[in-house]
Amino acid sequence: MNQPKIKRRVGKYEIGRTIGEGTFAKVKFARNSETGEPVALKILDKEKVLKHKMAEQIKREIETMKLIKHPNVVQLYEVMGSKTKIFIVMEFVTGGELFDKIVNNGRMKEDEARRYFQQLINAVDYCHSRGVYHRDLKPENLLLDAYGNLKVSDFGLSALSQQVRDDGLLHTTCGTPNYVAPEVLNDRGYDGATADLWSCGVILFVLLAGYLPFDDSNLMNLYKKISAAEFTCPPWLSFGAMKLIARILDPNPMTRVTIAEILEDEWFKKDYKAPVFEEKENTNLDDVEAVFKDSEEHHVTEKKEEQPVAMNAFELISMSKGLNLGNLFDVEQGFKRETRFTSKCPANEIIHKIEEAAKPLGFDVHKKNYKLRLENMKAGRKGNLNVATEIFQVAPSLHMVEVRKAKGDTLEFHKFYKNLATGLEDVVWKTEEDMQQVK
Ligand code: ADP
Ligand code: MG
Repeated sequence: MNQPKIKRRVGKYEIGRTIGEGTFAKVKFARNSETGEPVALKILDKEKVLKHKMAEQIKREIETMKLIKHPNVVQLYEVMGSKTKIFIVMEFVTGGELFDKIVNNGRMKEDEARRYFQQLINAVDYCHSRGVYHRDLKPENLLLDAYGNLKVSDFGLSALSQQVRDDGLLHTTCGTPNYVAPEVLNDRGYDGATADLWSCGVILFVLLAGYLPFDDSNLMNLYKKISAAEFTCPPWLSFGAMKLIARILDPNPMTRVTIAEILEDEWFKKDYKAPVFEEKENTNLDDVEAVFKDSEEHHVTEKKEEQPVAMNAFELISMSKGLNLGNLFDVEQGFKRETRFTSKCPANEIIHKIEEAAKPLGFDVHKKNYKLRLENMKAGRKGNLNVATEIFQVAPSLHMVEVRKAKGDTLEFHKFYKNLATGLEDVVWKTEEDMQQVK
């Protein structure tokens, strides 16, 4: 484990671990070395963005997002460019994804679901009023902050996900069209506002039902169900919730309910609190301008520094929620998109055991130093499940192993981890849960 580790910096940001990989970008944890503030760094391929036929629109929406500060929208702080990449610096949201709650606890009570739905509608309404549409509202973009408030991410990056769709990738790697409006699937040109609203309707259904309104292992059948808005509400829904869902999941965007009408809906209005917030002041847009002009003098430097692989305090902190070390092994959120365990076995043995446990589950194993990437060639509900694991040395005879979902469905990852853990019984010393109990 004494191999040196490369530490990266971009401008004033110290880059930490990967938080997630999405359909068109990688998201990494980073820290502003001047203020110590944690941020999330979205890394995009510059060429792809600048050559995009909608580059102008992307720029405009990113500029708008930089001006927005809404309690339910992930804040965009600044944009930087290097020779080959674009870095979007965002607020770091610590509470995980909203749908992890469904994975752990199943469907929500109506009051809880309503509170999240109200926050979602507030975010969507506000961005729409500023001319920014999402077009890719789905569970991965619904995050929770430390106080349990909903934060919608990726507003303003819609054109980029649009590109993914144009490329036809929707049908393969980027997975599910479960949240996409029928008019978007039919590809006849559509209005961002009504399409976003449809996705909100699907999200509300999942919160209340605990499962998807439209689902089918056959893509053609799924398209048909979505186009006809063919769904059935579970019997436990109240009449008010059912009525609202039916008004949103109207396959005809012309007659679909509008946000203004939702705000007047009886079910929606219960305990509604209008969001309180201030506008950002004196926001400078020069950084966005420079990136999209691709002006070389503004390129940030990407620096690499060698460091030992032993975990340092920064990395430990970057793994903990809310920067509180006590939360490092917090299982309050239950099962997340990543999980950790410690082991007293030597690193090589841990790697060997993970390989042995993963292969029978149908995974291809790619090794690189003390990192493993497990790829499932069988397409799951949301494309192939990819799992990244990394081994850290905490003390000479103690290793921490992180198992993270890199790609694919949270539910499937959950199943996978259970199976893997069974195969690993003799290397695991303590799981996150054990560590919680000794705390
Ligand atoms: P997707 O296209 O699936 O939304 P992203 O590239 O936006 O993927 O993000 C990948 C994952 O990284 C998300 O699913 C989310 O869990 C995490 N993530 C994204 N943005 C943030 C953020 N600002 N703070 C914390 N986690 C984030
Ligand atoms: Mg996202």
